[in-house]
Amino acid sequence: MAVTMDAIVSLCKRRGIIFQSSEIYGGLASTFDYGPVGVELKRNVKEAWWRAMVYERDDIEGLDAAIMMHPDTWAASGHLTSFSDPLVDCKQCRKRWRQDHLPSRWRVRLIANVDPESPSGGDVFVDVFAADYETAQKQAKQSKQWSSKAKGYWSVSEEPMKAPPACPECGGELTDPRQFNLMFKTCVGPVEEEAAVIYMRPETAQGIFVNFDSVMTTMRRKLPFGIAQIGKSFRNEITPGNFIFRTREFEQMELEFFCKPGDKCKAGERTDMEWWEHWKNERMNWYTRCGIRKENLRLREHEADELAHYAKGCVDVEYKFPIGWSELEGIANRTDYDLSQHEKHSGKTLRYFDQERGEHYVPYVIEPSAGADRAALAFLCDAFREEAVEGRESRRVLSLHYALAPIKCAVFPLLKNRPELVEKARGLALKMKKSFYTVYDDTAAIGKLYRRQDEIGTPFCVTVDVDTLTDGQVTLRDRDSMTQERMPIEKVEGVISDALKKAVIG
Ligand code: ATP
Repeated sequence: MAVTMDAIVSLCKRRGIIFQSSEIYGGLASTFDYGPVGVELKRNVKEAWWRAMVYERDDIEGLDAAIMMHPDTWAASGHLTSFSDPLVDCKQCRKRWRQDHLPSRWRVRLIANVDPESPSGGDVFVDVFAADYETAQKQAKQSKQWSSKAKGYWSVSEEPMKAPPACPECGGELTDPRQFNLMFKTCVGPVEEEAAVIYMRPETAQGIFVNFDSVMTTMRRKLPFGIAQIGKSFRNEITPGNFIFRTREFEQMELEFFCKPGDKCKAGERTDMEWWEHWKNERMNWYTRCGIRKENLRLREHEADELAHYAKGCVDVEYKFPIGWSELEGIANRTDYDLSQHEKHSGKTLRYFDQERGEHYVPYVIEPSAGADRAALAFLCDAFREEAVEGRESRRVLSLHYALAPIKCAVFPLLKNRPELVEKARGLALKMKKSFYTVYDDTAAIGKLYRRQDEIGTPFCVTVDVDTLTDGQVTLRDRDSMTQERMPIEKVEGVISDALKKAVIG
């Protein structure tokens, strides 16, 4: 059964994964807080990314740049003038939309007088919201105009026609688009004046570009090399929504990979376009290695009219979210645009000296730019299932990759009114915490405790029972197979550690 966004939202709220922000004040729209379980999931997502980018490669350095940057940064990057979205309002219901996010609307022509014997009125146009013309045709046939006519007198035109945009909510007429800058402004210092205005960064990338030379010099890097960064970004989105898919405060995981422009490469060196291909493969593989099913991922190449003027190519990694295929990450070949712009605006050279060629030039950059929150949402959606359990009611389980699972192990005493069992279980949990994140719980009956851990994706549960006191054995339960195995208490930590180590995302 396909997972719904409602099921994910409800799971997140119920199980301490994600809460509405400022809920006691009625909440702040489209802003979310990660609860005790969610914070672990997001940390693990970021950790898996950092591991793949920084620790497991020898050509990438890490960075943590400030959120607040010199305002000239945003003039150089183009954000001050062009980081805007086209905004339209419905004249009828007053809802606000991003023009480029309006669903496709098709005009379908229902042709009258198919039967020459029965002349009827003229052709009818039906405007339908649909992703493609074929679906629009089907929907048009279900429309009132169609059904009010006798069968056989009408046919549907084969010719696709785009309908004028309308409000997806009420069908009302929309205003002309206005450009709306997405950067949040604030002021530094005690005086709120134009000269004190700075911006909350709308992407982490610019923090990397302005540090390009410092990183290259201090780390004695030669091309090709990359700089990776994870951090918060802020965008005053016109239409945030779909839970944590689009929010105004979010976290990005960005890599800027600097390489030689194709015409500076010698035989055998990867060109910028080849690095772009490399990063497309790497990033797709990372998601599948983290457990996302292949059939739920795809690459979508940008159309020429979507492509920034300086970019040589851009693809989106898309995931099949419950809201449909949507962007998870963008991977662009941004050429030498960003560094050249910063050179121009700062007056500082951001060139690379190619010793072999005896030449200075601005490197090209390949940018895989992912959202940590969107990735967390994709992992939640992909891992969530409701399944029938033999002879019992269904269970909900998050079959997250072990490396992403918020809690690795939960320890329970079978009977909470037996102090010896409680003490042993607590002691075991405390000991195992040093190796991997373990929790202790005795707040429900054992069946319920297992179900709770299944729902948040805990791979292992260990139960201490009365027999443990005499035979020194505990029960280890596996989340996915639900099999239970008895083993000596002193062995269980090693067994879990081995399983977790084997599952490291490499
Ligand atoms: P969109 O078209 O969805 O607005 P974008 O193309 O503007 O996204 P980028 O600027 O390429 O996005 O940002 C890179 C990544 O950052 C996106 O793929 C997404 O994962 C994440 N991201 C961007 N905006 C948001 C947001 N408002 N909320 C959550 N994540 C976001």
